[in-house]
Amino acid sequence: MSKLNPVTTHREFSGLPGAIGITIGLPSLIIFFALVSNEAYSVQGINLDFQAILSQLPQSSQEWIDLVFDKTVWAAYLVWFFVLVALDFVLPGKHMKGTTLRDGTQLDYKINGLAMSSTLIAVLLARFYQTENGYLPELSFIYDNQMKLTLVTTVFSFLLAVFVYVISFVPLVKPNAHGTRERILSINGNTGNPIYDWFIGRELNPRIGSWDIKLFCELRPGLLLWFLINLSCLHNQYHKYGQVTDSVILINVLQGFYVFDGVLNEEGLLSMIDITTDGFGFMLSFGDLAWLPWVYSFQARYLSLPENTLTLGRGNVAIIVGIMALGYYIFHSSNKQKSDFRQGKLEHLQLESIQTTTGSRLLCDGWWGASQHINYLGDWLIGWAWCLPTGFQTPLTYFYVVYFGTLLVHRQTRDEAKCRAKYGKQWEEYEEKVPYKIIPYVY
Ligand code: NDP
Repeated sequence: MSKLNPVTTHREFSGLPGAIGITIGLPSLIIFFALVSNEAYSVQGINLDFQAILSQLPQSSQEWIDLVFDKTVWAAYLVWFFVLVALDFVLPGKHMKGTTLRDGTQLDYKINGLAMSSTLIAVLLARFYQTENGYLPELSFIYDNQMKLTLVTTVFSFLLAVFVYVISFVPLVKPNAHGTRERILSINGNTGNPIYDWFIGRELNPRIGSWDIKLFCELRPGLLLWFLINLSCLHNQYHKYGQVTDSVILINVLQGFYVFDGVLNEEGLLSMIDITTDGFGFMLSFGDLAWLPWVYSFQARYLSLPENTLTLGRGNVAIIVGIMALGYYIFHSSNKQKSDFRQGKLEHLQLESIQTTTGSRLLCDGWWGASQHINYLGDWLIGWAWCLPTGFQTPLTYFYVVYFGTLLVHRQTRDEAKCRAKYGKQWEEYEEKVPYKIIPYVY
């Protein structure tokens, strides 16, 4: 057995059945979202006309092939993906070290979110001013090809997961710090079962040269596509129906803010579970490239359809902006407080904390005295602000807060297991001082 890469014994998501179920279920769900909110059919209230929904699907295998493998849509997506890769290489940025890996080394990451965001905005503005009436064919293309793009991003994420799984077996060109040519695998993705490991992610940090596939996918093609999909909804409303509603503008502003906040603060990701612990397999590849842009944009897609048009009025807009601001404040200031505390920047405040035998301290004061994951509560409130602009026309537009709440609870239980194993008695002491998991006095 390799010392560097212990065999994984614990399996997430009920092991293989869960992995297969998610691999089939989640892509089906984003296809379902495309079917229930488009110009041919839109969900109304709680009624779903399954006959009408399913009649939109191809009837023959040739029609399926045409839908999934549309050459123009594939070409457009590949250009999008690889232009972003090229920009990642050429755009300037600062270099930062990642977490210390099991072989004692740290990877170097290029952080160029500012240059990337500025470039995208500059290109959009240039295209906007180039055209006479602000009509951008690129945005119409996205709007008109939602189903095909949903399928392309899904198939692409599947193939990318196969690619990284295969290269996880290829020995490194140069020996690692242990003097072997083994790659560092994820502690969760080395069971030996090919389907499970492909799903959960076998290699921790798959790279081609210095290009880190995982960090790139987390913050570039899917996140920025989400922003463009939202924009395409606004663009479509204006050019097809001659008006833009405040609900669609609000969604664009709130989610656009979140997207660029994420891209501009990308170094924060270097200490998150996704980068430090999770391997890169189908779960992250699909989550980043397909699930995120198509699930997170559902509210904008729904609201842009003429039968769902909704005008909120100033009062409602103010309330929703207030919820988003509160959520963002909790999310941002609690994450910053933990990060500043760990970097020793808050010594003057003499915050209460628990010294652990590993050397790190657990903060149990300020935000981190209110609950063990108060930052998750902030993030969840932000989610509510994204769903509320759709009014109360159908529960489907609230799918996001239900899904995200479940994800955060799952994440909290995983993190708790990790911290209990790492800190033992000191974690129990922390739990006594801070008993609530996410929502103070509730859970
Ligand atoms: P946290 O930022 O809460 O980090 C958890 C880690 O922090 C623990 O493993 C432990 O690591 C350390 N820690 C825990 N408690 C304390 C404490 N009291 N004092 C000091 N350190 C502590 O979790 P995540 O990485 O999951 O989330 C980061 C942010 O990302 C959150 O705001 C979350 O909402 C957001 N997020 C957003 C998603 C989205 O899709 N929008 C998805 C997932 C997360 P150590 O080993 O260093 O002690």
